[in-house]
Formats: sequence, C-alpha cells, structure tokens
Amino acid sequence: MSPLLRVSGLSKRFGGLVAVNDLHFDVMPGEVVGLLGPNGSGKTTAMNLISGALRADAGQVLFDGVDLARERPHRIARLGVARTFQLVRVLASMNCRENVEAGLAFRPHGLHGRAAHSEAERLLARVGLAGRETLAAAELTYIDQKRLELARALALQPRLLLLDEWLAGLNPTELRTGIALVRSLRDEGLTVVLVEHVMDAVHSLCDRCVVMSAGVRIAAGPTREVLADPHVVKAYLGE
Ligand code: ADP
Repeated sequence: MSPLLRVSGLSKRFGGLVAVNDLHFDVMPGEVVGLLGPNGSGKTTAMNLISGALRADAGQVLFDGVDLARERPHRIARLGVARTFQLVRVLASMNCRENVEAGLAFRPHGLHGRAAHSEAERLLARVGLAGRETLAAAELTYIDQKRLELARALALQPRLLLLDEWLAGLNPTELRTGIALVRSLRDEGLTVVLVEHVMDAVHSLCDRCVVMSAGVRIAAGPTREVLADPHVVKAYLGE
C-alpha cells in the first residue's frame, strides 16, 4: 500500500529562524498520526505547510500523488484535505447550519439548497450538535464550537483531516467525548494527522507519532515506543 501523505524535505524559515527543518514522514490510509513536540517546535507551521496556509521554502507534501506544497489552500481543500485550527474558527454571527453549509460549498460538486440543508443537519448530528441547527455559532459553548468546526471540516468529505489541538481546553468529561468522536471517524476509515498535547488522547488515538524539536524530527514510530524514547522525554522536559 502506498502512503496517502508523504512529507519529505519540508522546510520553512521565518527570517533567521528555521521553524521546520527537513521534516519527513509518511501517513498510510486509515492511520492516525500524532505530530508532537514542545511549544515552538514547528508543529503548527508544519500543519500550515500541509494545508497550504503557508508556502514551503523547500520540500514536498505529496497527497495521493499531488504536491500540496505547490497548491493553493482552496484547491487543497477540494482535493480532500480539511483542517481545524488551534484557536477555534467559526463564523460567529452565522447559525450552525450555515457554518456547515459554508463547508459544503467547497465540495467539488458543491451542495446547495435543500440538499445542503439536510446534509448540514446530518453532519451536525454526527458531531453531537443535533437540535442546534439555528443557534448562532457565537452562542455555543467552547466544546460545541469545536464540534461545529469539525462538522465544517467534515463537510468537505475529507480523505485527510488535520486537527490542530482539537482536544485542548476540554474538561475530562468533554475530553472523553472528544476522543470517542475522533476515534469514530478513524473507525470509518478517515486518515488523521493531529497535533496534540493531551497525552491521554495521543495514547488512545494515535497509531504512530512523529516528534519534533526545534523544527527537526527527533523521533517517529509506534506511539508507545516513541513516547518511551529517552530523546523524546528529554525534549519534553526541556533538559
Ligand atoms: P508549535 O506549533 O510546535 O508550538 P510553531 O510552528 O507555532 O510551533 O512555531 C515554530 C517556531 O516558528 C517558533 O519559534 C515560532 O515563534 C516561529 N513562528 C511561527 N510562525 C511564525 C511567523 N508567522 N513568523 C515568525 N515566526 C514564526
């Protein structure tokens, strides 16, 4: 089987700082891969490079044979790569259904009208927001805004979902629900790359992890092995 995503030689510099330095990793179809590392190690920059929000200085992001590093964000979304953001981004003044419909319009054969209405309702129910269709996004609690952002990402019918600290800031009960939701997406065959600091989530969701420190990959492999690696422990403790 060939990888769905192959990141190779990926680099990004901000002035004198090399935020991502020759990053490489593969993601197989159906896998959940965690992108880990201490603050400032380049994880969000890597996600921005993969989703096209930033242009790489060097390297490739091959997604099903297409180099995303050369594509614009809208086209990347249409190719089937969806993401959520570290700071939740919902369209605050629009209601939940309209938020999801905004995502549906991005499908290669965009959905509109009644079809969009019912698909938006199905997706809202999928993430646990049934009955909130006409509520303004701004009125939702924090976790529900996260659910809404996920529904909008799923509206693209992604083949690859990028989650940037989607589980951060949740209380223990919400965290369990959130983990179960992501796991159910994996069970449906969705491929996921996630940046996550919540170790319970990493343990229960990630098949494999890639660990970065100061822009460089310092470890990669099955989650349990990677998290026990002394180099990784040291990077996290900042020794
Ligand atoms: P992480 O997500 O692992 O916390 P980031 O990718 O956000 O790390 O940041 C990696 C490094 O790049 C940090 O030193 C950060 O300050 C720097 N950086 C990130 N974005 C920018 C930017 N737009 N301009 C300048 N420096 C940036």
